[in-house]
Amino acid sequence: IEESEKFRIEYWALEEAKLRRMPAPKPLATRVALVTGAGSGIGKAIARRLVAEGACVVVADLDAGNAAAVAEELGGADKAVAVTVDVTSEEQIAAAFRDAVLAFGGVDLVVNNAGISISKPLLETTARDWDLQHDIMARGSFLVSREAARVMIAQELGGDIVYIASKNAVFAGPNNIAYSATKADQAHQVRLLAAELGEHGIRVNGVNPDGVVRGSGIFAGGWGAQRAATYGIEEEKLGEFYAQRTILKREVLPDHVANAVFALTGGELTHTTGLHVPVDAGVAAAFLR
Ligand code: NAD
Repeated sequence: IEESEKFRIEYWALEEAKLRRMPAPKPLATRVALVTGAGSGIGKAIARRLVAEGACVVVADLDAGNAAAVAEELGGADKAVAVTVDVTSEEQIAAAFRDAVLAFGGVDLVVNNAGISISKPLLETTARDWDLQHDIMARGSFLVSREAARVMIAQELGGDIVYIASKNAVFAGPNNIAYSATKADQAHQVRLLAAELGEHGIRVNGVNPDGVVRGSGIFAGGWGAQRAATYGIEEEKLGEFYAQRTILKREVLPDHVANAVFALTGGELTHTTGLHVPVDAGVAAAFLR
């Protein structure tokens, strides 16, 4: 064998050895998770599920009262702590991770879930709307993932980052330009970070829910009325409307999104990264109306 070929083989063997040393995902019972936006809706359901699986959870939310109430409900200081964080602030994000490390000794699972929804037709969407939506969801999740990566790389134990994106990351829903654009941004962050962080054993995946009406703060806070008007139906019928347009005729609830986070991080999908799991009762496969 030529020298150059020998070197290529040795180098390849080194790469293989590096991969073998890479930490496998830890069981949830030994993990510390930080969930943004966990004071309400989908994030709260995710936090509840992770605690039920044995993880310790940092309930991170802009709404201090809701975060504290959820942490209390999940068992208090031994299992869950609340941190107040605005994901648009680098300083507050760094402080939240510091608090998490102080409380539980590290962080190895992070869920980018915090969000708002500004859903307007193009001609009504202001530059301020665009900036606010992107500051919280595109820039906010980038900043949270960057801090997560700093901590996880230093720990040398691998980890998981999960984005709660949306089917709107892929499909163009009506009157939703600012929101949907940030979801598409998040979806690409999943692929980019999966590629960049894989060598550290950090897996990055996404969950794409369809409309989760019941239990969602953003639906209750005006989005529901806007969506109902867009579809020409009463707001109370929205959940049923979403269910009826799916293949399975099932309404998606916060717990179904939490199930997907568990499936991705619970230890079985050791070789899955850069993936988006739809939790949409089939809308992404066949949009029926
Ligand atoms: P929600 O309003 O119930 O929860 C969002 C949480 O994010 C709230 O507790 C809020 O205080 C927090 N938050 C908002 N801005 C923040 C900031 N700057 N810093 C920190 N926290 C902040 O809404 P939800 O329906 O549970 O949505 C959660 C996530 O799921 C969002 O990213 C949303 O886009 C996504 N999603 C929701 C649906 C749906 O139909 N409900 C569908 C697909 C994706």
